[in-house]
Amino acid sequence: MSAVTTDPAGRAARGAVTVPAQASGSTGKLRLMAVHAHPDDESSKGAATMARYVREGVDVLVCTLTGGERGDILNKAMDRPEIRADLAAVRRAEMARAREILGVQQRFLGFVDSGLPEGEPLPPLPEGCFGVQPLEVAAAPLVQAVREFRPHVILTYDENGGYPHPDHVMTHRVSVEAFEAAADPDRYPGTGEPWQPLKLYYFVTFHRARFEALHNEMLRLGLESPYAERLAKAEENADRRTWEITTLVPCGDYFEVRDQALIAHATQIDPHGGWFACPTDAQRAAWPTEDYHLARSLVDTEKPENDLFAGIREKVDACSC
Ligand SMILES: [Zn+2]
Repeated sequence: MSAVTTDPAGRAARGAVTVPAQASGSTGKLRLMAVHAHPDDESSKGAATMARYVREGVDVLVCTLTGGERGDILNKAMDRPEIRADLAAVRRAEMARAREILGVQQRFLGFVDSGLPEGEPLPPLPEGCFGVQPLEVAAAPLVQAVREFRPHVILTYDENGGYPHPDHVMTHRVSVEAFEAAADPDRYPGTGEPWQPLKLYYFVTFHRARFEALHNEMLRLGLESPYAERLAKAEENADRRTWEITTLVPCGDYFEVRDQALIAHATQIDPHGGWFACPTDAQRAAWPTEDYHLARSLVDTEKPENDLFAGIREKVDACSC
């Protein structure tokens, strides 16, 4: 038990969260790895999924490629000189708290945030940052983590990064590289014994069908919906490629846990902001899942799935791997 879980202030802050007891009968052998670019990404994409699997006895590891050093402070209440003075340390502490709330393991893989370049033309990325690393350098720590943790399933972003942040795009590239290379004994020597993950998924989090459902539910409840603008934008971009949702993981019981983890990232998340515009009961009624695209699979599975480990549970139960 860590100091934080016994800290009365910490307990008070988490008072609203009800964490269901660990489900009985879990094998404890399944392992899930979520690969993210910055601290806070794990709480905005797939957090309720992870919280659910943790409570069911799955081992969950979040790998965070960068320290988020170049993130903006997006919550006005936190934009203070003492916070700015060492944003990296503040974000590490925020991550530690979110990790505890979600119940996951987490490790930083040691790269420096590339920042989000702005302007026309875009300025070059800062020297030495994650986004400018050669692929083999950028992927080596993740290959090592895969070989150590031996995940059956890996979650990451699509090739556009979910949104065009250079660290998110690079996170996609290193995740695919690790999925493909970690089992090859000739690749990445010195980073551990080969291991082959069985499935690779992309997060499909901010998609139109979900926003439409939330929007309609809020109108039905007589609430003001913040999603109209977003839906209009989706209409404009209707011809853009969207990922087929192959997998819908029921996790509505964990939306409060997800929200508490988000709030733990206080420099990034305004507790009165848009993240929390739709009441959780309305979310549960309208869209009680988190959604994924199965990008690679080495096991047979029937789509649509409702479990990231579909096709894997049987195999893992049958062996001791
Ligand atoms: Zn990010």
